[in-house]
Amino acid sequence: MQTSYDAFTRPVPRAALAPVAVIGGGITGLTAAWQLRQHGVPVVVFEAGPAPGGVIGSVRDGGWLHETGPNTLFENSPETTALLDGLNLRDRRLVASPTASKRYVVRGGLPVALPDTPLKFFASPLLSWSAKLGLLREPFIRRAAPELDESVAAFVTRRLGPEFLDYIVNPFVAGVYAGDPGSLSVRHAFPKLHALEQQHGSMIRGSIRRRNASAGPRGSMLSFPDGLAEIPRALAGALGPALRLEHRVTFVRRSGGTWRIGFAEGGRTGEEDFSAVICALSPDALAHLNLEGVPCAGRLSALRSIPQPPVASVFLGFRRADVAHPLDGFGLLTPAVEKRRILGTLFSSTLFPGRAPEGHVALTTFVGGVRQPDLARADDAELLASVQGELAALLGVRGAPVYARIQRWPRAIAQYVVGFQQFKDACSAVEQSSPGLFLGGTCRDGVSLSHCILAGQRLASVAWQSTAARL
Ligand SMILES: Cc1cc2nc3c(=O)[nH]c(=O)nc-3n(C[C@H](O)[C@H](O)[C@H](O)COP(=O)(O)OP(=O)(O)OC[C@H]3O[C@@H](n4cnc5c(N)ncnc54)[C@H](O)[C@@H]3O)c2cc1C
Repeated sequence: MQTSYDAFTRPVPRAALAPVAVIGGGITGLTAAWQLRQHGVPVVVFEAGPAPGGVIGSVRDGGWLHETGPNTLFENSPETTALLDGLNLRDRRLVASPTASKRYVVRGGLPVALPDTPLKFFASPLLSWSAKLGLLREPFIRRAAPELDESVAAFVTRRLGPEFLDYIVNPFVAGVYAGDPGSLSVRHAFPKLHALEQQHGSMIRGSIRRRNASAGPRGSMLSFPDGLAEIPRALAGALGPALRLEHRVTFVRRSGGTWRIGFAEGGRTGEEDFSAVICALSPDALAHLNLEGVPCAGRLSALRSIPQPPVASVFLGFRRADVAHPLDGFGLLTPAVEKRRILGTLFSSTLFPGRAPEGHVALTTFVGGVRQPDLARADDAELLASVQGELAALLGVRGAPVYARIQRWPRAIAQYVVGFQQFKDACSAVEQSSPGLFLGGTCRDGVSLSHCILAGQRLASVAWQSTAARL
C-alpha cells in the first residue's frame, strides 16, 4: 500500500475546491481529516455523537482513570508516530510498564503466565508435552493453497494442533476481537499470520526470518496521562470548527461532479455540497448510510451481516490489600474451554500510572463477545456480581469494589469472518462506480487503533489524489 507521505506531493490551493466531507469522527475519520488539512485540502467532519473519537473515551474521576473503549495503542508504524508527533503528543506518551510484558492465560481455573522464552515454553504448565512437541513439527507442515480462505481455528489446528488453539489462540482472539477462531478468517483477521505461512512455508521459520531481518524496536504499547482520548481531543483541537459534533449525516447524494450531504443537527436539517466524501464508519453504520445516485450502493447492505457482537467493559477499583494476585502483567485472558464468564481482565493500574488512587488497583474486565453475547446484556447488578465472582476466583479479590463503572457496546468489534472478501469487494465496487467517494476504517482496513490510523491516512491519500487530479 502506498503511504500518504508518498502520495502527497504538492499542495492544493484552498480556494480551488469545495471541501472534502468526512463522515464519522472516530480515529479513522479524524486522522483522514487532519491529514488532508495538513496538505491544504479544506475539510468538514460530520460526527453524530457529542464527542470526538468514536469508541475512544477516557473518563477522569478523582484518582481513577477509566477507558470506556480501547485501552492501548500499539505504536508500530511510522504513520502512527508521525501522527503523534504532528499532534505534539510525543512527550505525553506513556509506554506500558515493562511488567506488562507478562500475560496470563487461565488453565485449570488458575492464571498461568504465558512463556516468553523457548526455555520457559518447555517448562510451562500451560501446554502438555505432546502439544509442545507439536511445535517442532510446524516447520514441516505444508502451506495451504493460496486461494483458501481458512478459519483461524482450522489454520492453527492444522499447523500447531488443537491444544494450541484452545489455550493460546482462542484466548488471544477473545482479547483482540472478542471473537471466535472458528468463524474468523485467518487471511482477513490475521493477515500477517497468513502471510508468514504463504511466504515462508512456516509461521516459526517466517517469524525468525522476519525478526532477524528487521532491526530496531518492534513497537510500543501506549497510552497518555489522561488516557487514549488525548488523541481525538488533540485532533479535534487542530480541526477546530471543521469538526461538527452532533451532526448526523442523513443522505449522501451524487449530482454531477459534486456530492451533496444532508445532515440533522438537533431539530435542524441542512444540506451542503462537497468535492469528495470519505466514509469512515463501522460496517453497520456504513450499511445504513443512505447513498443516493451511487451505482452498486445496494451491495453495501451485505455489510449488515458482518457480526459485531456486544461487549461490556467493567472497570472496577479495589484496595490493593484486597487483591491477592501480584497483578504483575498486562492482564489475563480466558480460553473458551475453561468456561469462565469473562473474556479477560486488564491490570489497568499496572499497565499505566495514574489509573487508580494511591493504595488502590484498577481492573478492566471484558464480558460477552461472540462467545457469550447474553452475558454482555445482563443488568448492572447481575453483571457486577458475575465479574466480581470471576475476579475472586481467578485473582483472589476479596470484598466489594470501591469504584465501579460499566460501559456497554451493543455492537462492538467487527468480525473479519471467513468470506470477508465479499465485503471488501462490495466497498471497492461502490468506490469504482463513484469517483470521489471513499470508504474505509473497520469496514475493510482492520479493527485496531493502529489499523484505523493507517486507514485514515490511506483515505486522505486517495481523496487528495482525486482532488488534485481535478485541478
Ligand atoms: C470495547 C472496545 C475495546 C477496544 N480495545 C482496543 C484496544 O485496546 N486497542 C486497539 O487498538 N483497538 C481496540 N478496539 C478497537 C478500536 O478502538 C476501534 O476499532 C476503533 O477505535 C474504530 O475507530 P473508527 O474511527 O474506525 O470507528 P468509530 O470509533 O466507530 O467511529 C465512527 C464514528 O462514526 C459516527 N457515525 C456513525 N454514523 C454516522 C452518521 N450517519 N453521521 C455522522 N457520524 C456517524 C459514530 O458516531 C462514530 O463516532 C476496541 C474496541 C472496543 C469497542
